[in-house]
Amino acid sequence: MCEEKLNFKPMYDYQFWLMTEYTLSYNVNITFENHEGRLNLDVFTSTQLSLQVGKISGIGIRLHFTIIVAFVLLAWTISTYFMPQYVHDLNETGYWVLGIISTVLVFFSILLHELSHSFMSQKYGIPVKSITLFIFGGVSDISKEPKSAHKEFSIAIVGPITSFIISGIFAILLFSLRGFEFTSFENIQLSPIEAIMFYGVIINLLLGIFNMIPAFPLDGGRILRSILFRVNGDFYKATKTSTTIGIIFSYFFMGIGAVSLFVGNTIGGIWIMVIGWFLHSGVKSYQYYVEIEHLLQNVVAKDVMETQIISIKSSFSIQKTLDYFQMHLKSELPVVDDNGILLGLIKNTDTLKVEENKRNEKNVQDIMMSKKNLIIFNPDAKIDDAIMQMMKKRQGKVFVCDIHDKLLGVISKTDLLTIASERQNYFQSMHSKT
Ligand SMILES: [Zn+2]
Repeated sequence: MCEEKLNFKPMYDYQFWLMTEYTLSYNVNITFENHEGRLNLDVFTSTQLSLQVGKISGIGIRLHFTIIVAFVLLAWTISTYFMPQYVHDLNETGYWVLGIISTVLVFFSILLHELSHSFMSQKYGIPVKSITLFIFGGVSDISKEPKSAHKEFSIAIVGPITSFIISGIFAILLFSLRGFEFTSFENIQLSPIEAIMFYGVIINLLLGIFNMIPAFPLDGGRILRSILFRVNGDFYKATKTSTTIGIIFSYFFMGIGAVSLFVGNTIGGIWIMVIGWFLHSGVKSYQYYVEIEHLLQNVVAKDVMETQIISIKSSFSIQKTLDYFQMHLKSELPVVDDNGILLGLIKNTDTLKVEENKRNEKNVQDIMMSKKNLIIFNPDAKIDDAIMQMMKKRQGKVFVCDIHDKLLGVISKTDLLTIASERQNYFQSMHSKT
């Protein structure tokens, strides 16, 4: 059942982080820029490198620093190649003004596309933290994937629909300005405003079409998975099929990129190859995650937790805590009160930051990470999505507590990967027997 052996190397962790971003980022937007083959793709975003510029319905709107590069490239392409074709007799400044306005329009179009995914998610009670615009497009940071065919279908399809609607609105505006007198696209002459509308029609149409490509994790790939899931009732199988198709498309993109490069379209070719590569690594990482989750099916927290827990009392001084870390050679430890109730987590690096002369006055409670940032499971909970939560919260451990938050056990990421690996070996041995 699991043909490929999971590869548990340290490098794997990196894959996981990359993948986290991927599963959280809801979709990939790709935009073709006239004949240059310039593309936008979203992969993952770093909040450290982006700036929040506003908030819509509780969703932070962020701009990644790489958007500057995209802005300049797009504005240049539009003003140099697109606009002179349709608007005649402008000076260079005029074309640049049109290019800049059109570029702003592209980012607004992508933002609206992302907002539609986000609003649909919120409608289903799935919180959305932020939308980030960056060099390759836009990404919605949706807190979890809906494991429901109907919800996934709605959240995915609303994006392309929104793009098609915006395209239609621009088309209506354009026709209302010009009337229906287009004869051929070859020799049309447009006024500057008409040209911007025309660009709005094209860009949103392309946004919609590209996102409908059934290459997971593009919207089309998610739509495909939701349909397969609905038909077969098997989320795992549906994911396998749609991600495999996603991988084929990623090779296809890389191939097209290589061919473009070969025929002399250097920038366009490299760009498409990079997109193919990003798609590929994204889908691969996603597959790893789904595979692990599948292997951990029906594993219950209390059966795998480590019950020999070394913990720190919240009343310990920083000095005593440092001694404790040194004694047990740990980098982080759970913090409990006198009754064993979990209060938080303390890291050795944070204790070391406390100035030496204050290490006896301050105690653990002053600097610990609060419980609300930790991943807590009850003993009877299934832990198949624990890895996902660890990645999302950037934590390496799950704490198992009873209903009163008394700490009963700890499960580390390594434990889970080991269990997954053992189960895989078991399935493989069963497989080879037949
Ligand atoms: Zn989308």
